[in-house]
Amino acid sequence: MSGPGRFRVRSDVMIRFLRDHCRVQADTSGHQVRINVCPVCGDAPTGGKAFRHVVNFRKQIFFCYRNDCLVDLVELVRLMGGHRTMAGAMQYLASFGEAFDLTGGEHPDPGSPDDEEGPVLRRIREKLHAASVGMVPGQAEEPEMDLPESFSADWSGKHGRAALSYARRRNVPEWFVHSGRIGYCTAGEMRGRLVFLTFEGERLVYAVGRAMSDRQSPKYLFPEVGGGELGKSRFVFNLDLWAGCSRLLVCEGTISALAVEGGVCVFGHRMGPQQAAKIARTVRETGIGEVVTLFDPDLDPRKEAHAASMLTAQGCPNVRLGLLSGGDPAEVPHEVPTAVAGSLQSGDRLSLLRARVDWIGKKK
Ligand SMILES: [Zn+2]
Repeated sequence: MSGPGRFRVRSDVMIRFLRDHCRVQADTSGHQVRINVCPVCGDAPTGGKAFRHVVNFRKQIFFCYRNDCLVDLVELVRLMGGHRTMAGAMQYLASFGEAFDLTGGEHPDPGSPDDEEGPVLRRIREKLHAASVGMVPGQAEEPEMDLPESFSADWSGKHGRAALSYARRRNVPEWFVHSGRIGYCTAGEMRGRLVFLTFEGERLVYAVGRAMSDRQSPKYLFPEVGGGELGKSRFVFNLDLWAGCSRLLVCEGTISALAVEGGVCVFGHRMGPQQAAKIARTVRETGIGEVVTLFDPDLDPRKEAHAASMLTAQGCPNVRLGLLSGGDPAEVPHEVPTAVAGSLQSGDRLSLLRARVDWIGKKK
């Protein structure tokens, strides 16, 4: 779905991509083309009525009239390009340089590919939405919040260029800069901060504002549900982007997570059961090969052991501790975290359990 957390892929780039992967038929409307193959259900008819699948650039969706398959354009690129993860598809698109339209905080409802098909597609979208919402079983509420006041992802202009230069100094990768998941604020609570957004499905659930000057502290925004604010220790940054990756690296901060392939980060003082459950479920359901914790080595190592044991306790397979030395993942050269993750000690259940007992012992 086209939401604030997704690329808006430019139509000319998308058409070039599609021409490399299937047969394309131009549409007179100017904002969509038809293609002959559906990468979701595999429908690829031959003969006269071959072009029955629509790619709509304005609404940033693909729709298959054969089996009602509906995905956003980044997911379409992921499927057709053979990328394992959404992050992989985004990295590929970023290689085009000018592959994206900047929405600058404007997020139109994707609607339906053809307006006369509205009710049918609305039903499908609701179904998709419900599937993405149900990340934690039994969770009735759907936490969601608005973008922070004055949030912008337009990197041109005085404020945009300053924020971009700060982001680059902090090693925020280029593909993420244009993802729509990072921006800056010039007014309001997050003023003067580089803002990282966290999504669950299409819903914005958490925003971290990192001060671009030393005098300010970071700020956090999260949604209110049922009259009370949700604690931040239930969200995981970028987990959706790395679903299906071979190795998930669980870090402590957004910048650290962005420094490594497969990087996610947990918010809060220590990993909460809901964060562990979300990670464990994504690992099981999308076939992630292994999970490695990669925390800041200057902090108490029991914090990392606690996180690993929480994951194991939630049924997450193949959890390992990545004991990094020399700085956090964003401070050491890029290849170090990856090398460390490849040669880790095994996080067997017993040692994790023991680490957890130590942690609990310290708390009391
Ligand atoms: Zn289909």
